[in-house]
Amino acid sequence: MSTRPTANALASLDGKEGISPELLALESRLLDWRQSLTGEIRSCYPEPKPDPSILTEVLESGSTLVTVLDPLPQTTLLSKALTQFLAATQSILPAAGDLSRWLARMDCNQGEQKLARWFTASWKGDQGQLEALAVDSGLEVGVLEWTGRQLAKPFFHRWGEIIAGHPAFESRDPLSAGCPACGGPPRMGRYEREEGRRFLWCDLCNLQWVFPRLTCAFCLNRDQVKLGFLTIEGADPYRIDVCEVCRGYLRALDERKLPEDSRVDFLIEDVGTLHLCILAEKEDFRQGSMTGSAPAGPSPVN
Ligand SMILES: [Zn+2]
Ligand SMILES: [Zn+2]
Repeated sequence: MSTRPTANALASLDGKEGISPELLALESRLLDWRQSLTGEIRSCYPEPKPDPSILTEVLESGSTLVTVLDPLPQTTLLSKALTQFLAATQSILPAAGDLSRWLARMDCNQGEQKLARWFTASWKGDQGQLEALAVDSGLEVGVLEWTGRQLAKPFFHRWGEIIAGHPAFESRDPLSAGCPACGGPPRMGRYEREEGRRFLWCDLCNLQWVFPRLTCAFCLNRDQVKLGFLTIEGADPYRIDVCEVCRGYLRALDERKLPEDSRVDFLIEDVGTLHLCILAEKEDFRQGSMTGSAPAGPSPVN
């Protein structure tokens, strides 16, 4: 799969509301960096390869991959990805220099352990671990978490690819909470053109899955009175789905309001709609986190 169309679309965001040239340059470096690792990650990760029956079980039970498998890559591959990440971002990202100095201070054995802790704490959003690493590195928690998530993305993207291609993925219970791979909250959503089904997307795994329309994607609230969306003047096809129970918001696109031949590229939309996040946050909603678990009983059709 080529990322060229994505790179071109990224460049086309130049000049849009809330988009700085620095942000575009950074996103473009990150895209190239992930692309440069794709081949090696496909052939060497995960190692050992998971038994397909484990994936079937995870998907059929509506569980998430990380409850049965540890996504931590082999040290050599992770170190290589990190070295290339730092090289790709060093001229744009001030934190890249601080990270390099932190890593240079560690001896071999220590480095391996800390790298593993950083990787795991970042994708999990484990604040306790991140705070301990922040003290050790002199970096801010938010910086460590953001860079650690970036480092984790090419590996989780591979899990997204594996799961999306698995036969049991299509029949997964749509009311299962969170991303099928990492268990995390969705970052964006879309309403498909053909049947109007709702899809949620995880940016860590670059994976999208079907989810009921009239249910909160974070706390699974189904009380219609407490669900709604913020309309944004002049912003067709965009909307912001909100829930008054957990105050979570989710940016979404309605494909029926898009030109006939266009399709949603979430990697681009995520960068291009940051102004919608600001709008939702002004209304006192926040980027949702997973707080719900599936209620007992049959799943709703919609
Ligand atoms: Zn995920
Ligand atoms: Zn909610």
